[in-house]
Parts: sequence; C-alpha cells; structure tokens
Amino acid sequence: MVFLTLMQLPALFSTSAAEPDYEDIGREAARILADLVRINTTNPPGNESKAVDYLARLFDREGVLYVRTAEVDGRENIIARYHGSGEKRPILLYSHTDVVPADAGWGEWTVDPFSGIVRDGILYGRGAIDAKGLVAVHAATMLLLKRENIPLDRDVIFLAAAAEETGGGPGIAWLLEEHRELIDAEYALGEGGRVQQRADSVWSVWVQAGEKAAHNLTVTALGTAKHAAIPSRYNAIDRLTDALVRLRAHTFPPRPNAVTEAFRRNLESVAPELFPRSDRYDAMQRTTISVTLIEGGIKTNVIPDYAEANLNLRLVPGEDLDSVVTVLNDVVADENVKVAKQPWAVSRAGTVSFETPFYNAIESTANVLWPHAVVTPYLSPGTSDASKLRDAGIIAYGLMPFPLTAAESDRVHGVDESIRLDALQEGIRFTYELLKRWSGTDPKTAKP
Ligand SMILES: [Zn+2]
Repeated sequence: MVFLTLMQLPALFSTSAAEPDYEDIGREAARILADLVRINTTNPPGNESKAVDYLARLFDREGVLYVRTAEVDGRENIIARYHGSGEKRPILLYSHTDVVPADAGWGEWTVDPFSGIVRDGILYGRGAIDAKGLVAVHAATMLLLKRENIPLDRDVIFLAAAAEETGGGPGIAWLLEEHRELIDAEYALGEGGRVQQRADSVWSVWVQAGEKAAHNLTVTALGTAKHAAIPSRYNAIDRLTDALVRLRAHTFPPRPNAVTEAFRRNLESVAPELFPRSDRYDAMQRTTISVTLIEGGIKTNVIPDYAEANLNLRLVPGEDLDSVVTVLNDVVADENVKVAKQPWAVSRAGTVSFETPFYNAIESTANVLWPHAVVTPYLSPGTSDASKLRDAGIIAYGLMPFPLTAAESDRVHGVDESIRLDALQEGIRFTYELLKRWSGTDPKTAKP
C-alpha cells in the first residue's frame, strides 16, 4: 500500500502525459547546479574547461550532441544541439561557466562560496544565479527535449561560453569570429533580464532588449611636487578631487528610446516608485559615470605632482563616446586636469526590436506561468554577451527565467549569492514551455 502525504498530492496531479515531472527535473537541475558551483571557475583565470568536462559527461550520458572548442587552453566553450526539422533558423540558449571572484574584497560569506550547500530549500554559492543557475536551467531543458523527443521546427543550440565576466574575448566574441556556424541562430536567449518576485508572487518580467555600453576613462591631474609643510595650490590631488566634485554634479540629459519608453508605459502603474526618476530608470535612459579607482601621492610629507582616477562610463544607445569625453573635459574646465578615453572599448550599446514572434512567445508563456505579471522590454544598464550577438545580427533577448526577489538579485556578484530551488524549477518550466509553445510542431503539445 502506498501512502501519500498532502504535500505530494499536488505534484502528482499536475503531472500529465504532456507535461514532464518538473519536480523531478528540478531536483536533477539542483544537483547539476551544486556540482557546477563546486567547480571553481573564478575568472581570472577561469579554468572553464573543468565545467565543460562536467557538462560533456552529462550530455554523453544522455546522448545529447555537443562540441567543445577553445581559443585559449583550459578555457573551452561547450555547444550542444537538439535537432528540430530545420524549417526555421535555430534558437540559441546562451550562458557562461566563468564566475566573478568570491574572495577578498567581496565581503564575508556565511557559507563557503564553492560548497553548493543547500539550506532551507536555497542553494548557495558563487554563480548560483550568474550564470551557473542559467547553465543548469538550459542543460535541464536540453535533457527534457531529448528525453521527451519533442518535435520542433528549428534546432535548439545550447552554449555555455567562457570568459563572459571579463568581456567574452575567448568566449562568444571568438566563437562569432571563428565558429559562427556552431552558434548561428535567428534568435538568442540568455542572461540580463529578470522575473521579478515580490512577496509570494511574480509581479513583472523584464525582458532585456537592449543594453548600455561600458567604457573606462582616465582623469589625470598634474601639479608641482613640494614639501607638505606649506600648503600649495599646485597639489595634484586637490586638482583631481575638485574635478571629481564637478563631474559628480554633472548629469547627462535623458535619451529615451523605444525600449525605455515601453518600460515606463508598462510599469508606471505597478511600480510608480521607478518614475519619473529613480536610480534605476535614470541609469536606463542617461549616460552615467562612476568613479571606481583613485591613485596619487608618493610620501606622507610630499605634495604630489600627479594623481589619477578611473571613471566607469556607461553610454546609452545613440550617445557618442568622443562627444561625451569633450563634455566631461568642459565640465572639469581645468587645463591641468584631462579626461581621456582608454584605447580599448569594453562593449557596445544597442537595442533590438521587441515586436517579434519570439518576444511575443516569451510574453505569452510568461502570462501562462505568472498570470499577474506585467511583461515588459527592459534596457540593462549593465553589459552582457547579448550586445555581441546583436552586433552579429542575431536577435538576442536576456531573461534569467527564475523568479527572484530584489534581495536575491542584489546578491548577484555579491555576498551569499543563492537561488531558491523552487525558482530554479520554475526557470526550467518556463524555458521548456516557451520552446514547446513557440517551436513545437506536435499539435497535441504546441499552442499558438
Ligand atoms: Zn553573467
């Protein structure tokens, strides 16, 4: 005789022939994620091949086809493919296996950041969300497609890239240059957007359809070295700090675009605190600068003749880097202080249309899973690999598909990064349902 507890009943009844057992695949994804967290892929140096070894073994066991390839030793990318009919061009599910550091300078963790430990249904560790959580969701989706043998009208490509956290050089950038055929797709879905949860329900879904560009500028101040016993107006640090105060007071004008305007229209009534001005909405529609490094002085009793600061600049789409540098030099207005761009660009800004069949499918799938949520396009103040895909003509959207509270989102790149296992399961359900609804060709499972 089998006894069921009340807790088990809903799970059993929600599992029909057409729907996989999401509890089961959720548990499997949690194991995959814990294993991935335990593989230290802190970038630098990355060592992404260790995570690729793991994913390759997983795909081998399941008969999922994949290739692994690297520009730099030890920093492989892994690309798997589930074949559809080929009637339409592929969809790329992309993520990355490297993580940002979790050690000195990042605060005190309450757990070992590479333990993948689960407490009260929450899995902790660096990368639990960004982006090993996404890797686990995409991998689980590939396993489900394969196991259920779902007929699709296009291929699904899985990519877990190297080196995203330091600009994607040997990862997506190299793949686009050298192995475009492996990841070529009509659409792509990766990190960047958020499923926003407040209390117990999802209130909005932010689909990243654009991002700002990141650059670094150097502010250099010159002075005259003297003995510190007599204060001097030729002090380079004084000149630098005066310049930084003026720069801080400067605000660039808003440059709204279709994405930021839709974001405001969609959320004005449900999140009035964001409009007309908030740090986040400001960062979405204005070019901004943040001082991130400062250096100067050589001795406690010497007035320095040199000081410099780094400005992290985030350009909105359509803003010109050189004109911004000119404006900032005008703001500083001191011939002994210069703002200059660094010779390498970090990323490019841009938006993509959100009036596409794929965006509509994201919206309608989200409406089914989270009926009370407002779905909106979103422009990310941060950068991701999406900009490189968009530059290459692939229509890329960003959406971390698992519901996150604001506090959980804040722990990305921070202390005690963690994900709820029920949210991880929701992420798989969303991604799998999205593909089935949008690209499925079986009339029993595909819905318009
Ligand atoms: Zn990331």
